[in-house]
Order: sequence, then structure tokens, then C-alpha cells
Amino acid sequence: MDLTLDPARAAWRAEVRSWLAANVPSEPLPSLDTREGFQAHREWELRLYDAGLAVVTWPAHYGGRDADLLDWLVFEEEYWAAGAPVRVGQNGIFLLAPTMWEFATREQLDRFMPPMARGEEIWAQGWSEPDAGSDLAALRSRADRADGGWKVNGQKTWSTRAAYADWMFGLFRTDPESSRHHGLTYLLLPLDAPGCHHPPIRQLDGEPGFAEVFFDDVFVPDEHVLGEVGQGWKVAMSTTTSERGLTLRSPGRFMASADRLLSLVRRTPDADPVLVADAVQAWLDADAYRLYVQSTALEALAGKPIGAESSANKLFWSQLDVRIHETAFAVARPARDLHRRRRPPMARRVSVLARRSDLRRHQRGAAQRRGGARARVAEGVSAMRLLPSVEALGLRGCGARPARGCVRRGSAAGGVGLAGRTGAGLWKRLADVGVPGLAVPEEHGGSGMDLTSLVPGAGGVRTRRGA
Ligand SMILES: Cc1cc2nc3c(=O)[nH]c(=O)nc-3n(C[C@H](O)[C@H](O)[C@H](O)COP(=O)(O)OP(=O)(O)OC[C@H]3O[C@@H](n4cnc5c(N)ncnc54)[C@H](O)[C@@H]3O)c2cc1C
Repeated sequence: MDLTLDPARAAWRAEVRSWLAANVPSEPLPSLDTREGFQAHREWELRLYDAGLAVVTWPAHYGGRDADLLDWLVFEEEYWAAGAPVRVGQNGIFLLAPTMWEFATREQLDRFMPPMARGEEIWAQGWSEPDAGSDLAALRSRADRADGGWKVNGQKTWSTRAAYADWMFGLFRTDPESSRHHGLTYLLLPLDAPGCHHPPIRQLDGEPGFAEVFFDDVFVPDEHVLGEVGQGWKVAMSTTTSERGLTLRSPGRFMASADRLLSLVRRTPDADPVLVADAVQAWLDADAYRLYVQSTALEALAGKPIGAESSANKLFWSQLDVRIHETAFAVARPARDLHRRRRPPMARRVSVLARRSDLRRHQRGAAQRRGGARARVAEGVSAMRLLPSVEALGLRGCGARPARGCVRRGSAAGGVGLAGRTGAGLWKRLADVGVPGLAVPEEHGGSGMDLTSLVPGAGGVRTRRGA
């Protein structure tokens, strides 16, 4: 597959890069979990909007650029590489908006999308309740019929950003006779409505990152029901699909984290060789994820169905996410801890050797070692012939053996001149990239895969590094 950047996408990358270079604050904004930081991040959203960069995939009519998926991937790579602020509006822009395109009326779109794009209305999610966490269908918050709308009573909890957010979307039981997934309705509620209280929940660092939300006869008009009354579960699954899919986990985020991890290793001359190998592997995996998503995006834009193997993405990035941060945590441990350490036990040394051999396998061309999804990543890797050395990553002298090869992060991330195709249909399909419903039957929204597809070596998922 040709992953060469066409001139239009190269120009887009240059435009985004140049704006970010001139505008990303030189000092990090104050913490998003403080009132001051929340406001600073809100103002950043408005700056992005004024530059036409807040909601690039949205229709121009609502402040977007009609960008297709590849342009969005380019934007995300540049955004995170530039160290730009976390998106305070992400619940709205990345989770609610795709659901709105699918279920909202024209009036609802006109009412909610513009202030969402400008960061004037920040959204919180209202799913979890004290006795309904993993088991969301056990929720008990209810909305009872009232004149022209609904009276909401109950409690939500663990609501990210709700300490300072303006609106909440969530699920409420509207049919008191119903149970489980039935009789639920998806509502849009202003958090400053009479009867609504949202006291913060302090995190370990003392900052109020979450909130509980209490509803005491909060009135919600009919115009703020999203989708059909009683069909809330279906609407909510659209939102959660976006949360589990690509939109919050663009490869650019992982590449930026992996780059930071390598920088940390470079600044740690006595880093444990085990950790250096882990860092290199994490970087390789982030790049593999980038190439894989890119190839999937090209196929989707070319009209090919997204296969079940793309669901492997979710497993891949969630494990990668943990590994990057665990490794960074271990590298950043006080030096005295490292000095106290004795030689690693035999099992650990064996595992280091295994990882080095994994690096060498990468060098020889992953195309020959994986079927299915992994092979497609490898095709991109070998096609680009990007095999510089660990020295090129600046890791020499950081405890790494001069392991000879790894995949360089290429600049090529663009398309092959495909016409931009946007719209709810495409985005719905693309949200499915990374959905973890691997073995769930298709009629229930899953991928209907045989569990043997998940076994390493059987064309599926790598469950452990190098396995
Ligand atoms: C960073 C973060 C942000 C969040 N943001 C939001 C938000 O914005 N809005 C929102 O509504 N919620 C949010 N949540 C809450 C999150 O959705 C819930 O924490 C989650 O649904 C789990 O619920 P719980 O904490 O009540 O745990 P529980 O559901 O009580 O689970 C406790 C433990 O039991 C295990 N368990 C549960 N059921 C089973 C089972 N059937 N079989 C085996 N094991 C089981 C779980 O794996 C877990 O280890 C957030 C959570 C986190 C960590």
C-alpha cells in the first residue's frame, strides 16, 4: 500500500504545524482539574476555533473543515507532537458530536453544535451511578413525564469534568416498569438547572477532577431528548463506541507519548537496559499502530469494509498505553532505587534477550511473521523502508545494546489523493475501528469473530510483547 503523502495533505500538515508552532503556549496551561485551568483550556478551545482547527472533521456549516479521516490523523499527529493542551471539550467534540450527527434533529444540531465547537458549552458524561458502574443497565436515575418534558431525579457519579462543565449527556430510566437495557432515554441536561448539584470529588492529588451529580426534580424539555424516548441504550452505544474507538486514541497521541518516553530515557544515562528495551519496543508499537490505522483509513476511504481484525486495535492500544506509562514510571524512579537494584533475576534477563530478538525480528521485516492485521502494518513498514538504528533515536549510551534496527517514525502519513468523504455514515464506520466487541455476535453490534482469531499466530492479536 502506498502511504505517500500527497501535496494537498502535505500542505495541510504544514498549515497545522505552523499555526501550532506560533500558538501553543510555551508553558503548560494550569491543571484542567482546577477552576483556573479549566477556564484557560476553554479559552484555548476558542483560539483553535477561531483558527478553524477546533473541529476539523465537522461540516463547515458548524465551524469545521470537512476534513476526512486522513487529514484528521495528520492534524492529531501534529497537535500532540506540538505538546498542545488537552482538549477540555473532548466529551462533546469527540463523543457526543458523532452521536448527534446520527440521532439529533436539525434544531438540536443548530442549538448545540456551535457552542460546543467554540468551547462555550463543555460537556460531561452521565453514565455511572453508585450502584451502576460496569453494569450500566442497573442505573436507577429516572425521568418522569412532566408537562412539555421530564422531571429528573437521582444521582450520577465519577463524571469527568462535571465540577466545572456546563452540560451533561446521559442515560435515565423513563419507563418505570422497564428493566435493564429497556425503557431508558438519552437526555441532554444543563448542569446549572434548578435542582441540579454537582459537588466535586477530590482526587489523590487534591484536585477536583470528577464530580457527583445530584438531580432533584430537574426539568428537561422534550427538545433535549436525543433519539427516541425508550431507545436510550441504542443511542448510548453510539457514544460509547466513539469512546472505545479511534476518536480519543488517535495514533498521534501514542506517538507523542512514546517520543516523550524516549526523551526521558535519553536524559537518564544510567537507565536499566531492560527499561531501555521496553521504551524502544513501546515506540515501535506506537509506530505500528500509526501505520495500521493509516492503512485501515485508506481502505475505509476507498470504500472497503472494515474487517473484524481492526478490532484488534483496541486490545493493541490499551496494552500499549499501559506499557508506555509503566515504563516511564519505572525510568523516572529516583536513581537511588535503581542503584540499589541487583542483577535482574534469570527470568528477567531471558525476557530482555527475548525483547532484543524481537527488535531484530522487526528489522528483518515483520511482513513475514504475522498474518492478517499485523501483516498489514508490516507491509506499510517494509514498503517505507524505514529502518534506521537505535543510534539514530539517540539511545546510544542509555544502557541499550546497539540493537540495530527499529522503525523510524516517518513523515509520510497522508493519503493517495482520495477525495474527501465525510459525514455521519463514514464516521460511524470509522468509530468502529478499535471496537472491542470481537466475539460479540454481529446482530448485537459486535464483530462475530471466532475466539481462535484472538490466539497469537492464528492471524490475530498479539497479547504480550513479542509473543
Ligand atoms: C478515568 C475515569 C474517568 C471516568 N469518567 C466517567 C465519566 O465521565 N462519566 C461516567 O459516568 N463515569 C466515568 N467513569 C466511571 C467508570 O465508567 C466506572 O468507574 C466504571 O463503569 C466502573 O464502575 P465502578 O467504578 O462502579 O466499578 P464496579 O462496576 O463496581 O467494578 C468494580 C470491580 O469489579 C469488577 N467487575 C464488575 N463487574 C464484573 C463482572 N460482571 N465480572 C467480573 N468482574 C466484574 C470490575 O472489573 C472492577 O474491577 C470514569 C472512570 C475513570 C477511571
